[in-house]
Amino acid sequence: MRRVFGLLLCTAWMQTALALPTADLVIRQASVIDGTGQPARLADIVINQGSIVAIGSELSRQWQSTHTIDATGMLATPGFIDLHAHGNLQREVQFKNVLAMGVTTLVLGQDGASPIIDDFAAWRDDILGRGLWPNVAMFVGHGSMRAHLGIEKDAPSAEQMQAMEALLQHHLAFCFGMSTGLEYVPGLFAQAEELERLAKVVGDHQGMIASHLRNEDDEALDASIDELLAQGRFAPVHISHLKSVYGKGNERAQQLLSKLYQAREAGIRVTADVYPYMASYTGIAILFPDWAKTTADFAHAREHRRAELRDYLTRKVNSRNGPDATLLGTGEFKGKTLEKLALEHNRHFADVLIDVIGPQGAAGAYFVMDEALQYRLIQGEGVAISSDGSPGSYHPRGYGSFAKLIEILTLEKGLFSLPEAIYKVTGLPASILGLTDRGLLKPGMAADLLLFEPTEVRALANYLDPHQLAMGFRYVLVNGEVTLHDGQFTRRGSGKILTPAR
Ligand SMILES: [Zn+2]
Repeated sequence: MRRVFGLLLCTAWMQTALALPTADLVIRQASVIDGTGQPARLADIVINQGSIVAIGSELSRQWQSTHTIDATGMLATPGFIDLHAHGNLQREVQFKNVLAMGVTTLVLGQDGASPIIDDFAAWRDDILGRGLWPNVAMFVGHGSMRAHLGIEKDAPSAEQMQAMEALLQHHLAFCFGMSTGLEYVPGLFAQAEELERLAKVVGDHQGMIASHLRNEDDEALDASIDELLAQGRFAPVHISHLKSVYGKGNERAQQLLSKLYQAREAGIRVTADVYPYMASYTGIAILFPDWAKTTADFAHAREHRRAELRDYLTRKVNSRNGPDATLLGTGEFKGKTLEKLALEHNRHFADVLIDVIGPQGAAGAYFVMDEALQYRLIQGEGVAISSDGSPGSYHPRGYGSFAKLIEILTLEKGLFSLPEAIYKVTGLPASILGLTDRGLLKPGMAADLLLFEPTEVRALANYLDPHQLAMGFRYVLVNGEVTLHDGQFTRRGSGKILTPAR
């Protein structure tokens, strides 16, 4: 009798166990901020096979799971999405810099520069074979297409234009859109007709255009935005790293935002991203005139237009807060300001730019932005947060931007509530990109997810030590796998190359 009873108990237990659905992971008692902007609510989250399958109260009793995390006292949010980042996938597949600040998806192929991909499946398999850690979404670069087709300074010929349209169409099968870099060679050679024809192709394939504007100097900014808005008649447009170089104040920011809001009212889909630092970072060619940016043009200008070039560089650098506000970040110049380098050479900084550095000779950080203006922009509607950083560039934004959003902009300065801040780096960028399975915590979404206590988040990178990983994101999950836990990277290669849902 005893034996029978035991058997009965066992069967009853098995029936209960069989009745419970199984999952890979249950996160218990998290304070869930779901990425829509709604306030936090206490809930359990059930994850199976890389996706969120249920969110609700007391779910841990209703599911059997291989792993459990007690998230009492922690926020659960979607993994952050970085709309504008840099990195070379042929060299870099880990991106610890972004994962440590909570970014689980980054968008590459920016500023007009991207790989030209012939066979997408082979390209993707090669990268995944090397173990990609975060997810990556790609843009195709307008400048790279132009260079690939051998289009030089002139407008493309009719055949070249058709070839570029075909190349763009090919890439839009797996890229989220086209990026332009109109302040760089060769993007700066493109005029309205070329850009609008390409915008039509982008729009016809439900893509978007992300643009590094033609000129970010305050006096040229409105015209540069207008140029992009003209393309917005054909496709959604997005201003990458929106900034005003040497513009100042809250009011100026308000004017710029109003311009975007008015365009939206007129039916143009326009959005933007901003990184939360007051220095930009790019090649030193940014300081040189259009007629002296390439190696060949520069050689000619140095020989034949030296006085004019020297004068241009002097005015340009002074308008950008002077040589002390340019911090060189590459090669033998790393860590020196242009002013310091000029002192070392005992020459005027413009002569140092011409004779020592040259337009291709360095990259640097430029302290050209105003905090009141940039922080007002970052609060704008339809304005997301990006890093514009890379694992290697000598600027803290690639390691700190998203941690700084939480630590400084939200908790210290109070620019956002936590749900608003989280929305700006999850639900908003997902909707801008058209990502339908990420950016929110809800059933059916990919399990890109963070667990953290906001007060523990620290952006440790600074201009002198820009490659310090951020701290405080206790768990970073990419497609359901724990990639980072308490400062340790625990897992390799659960990132995906994302493709558009269209
Ligand atoms: Zn850029």
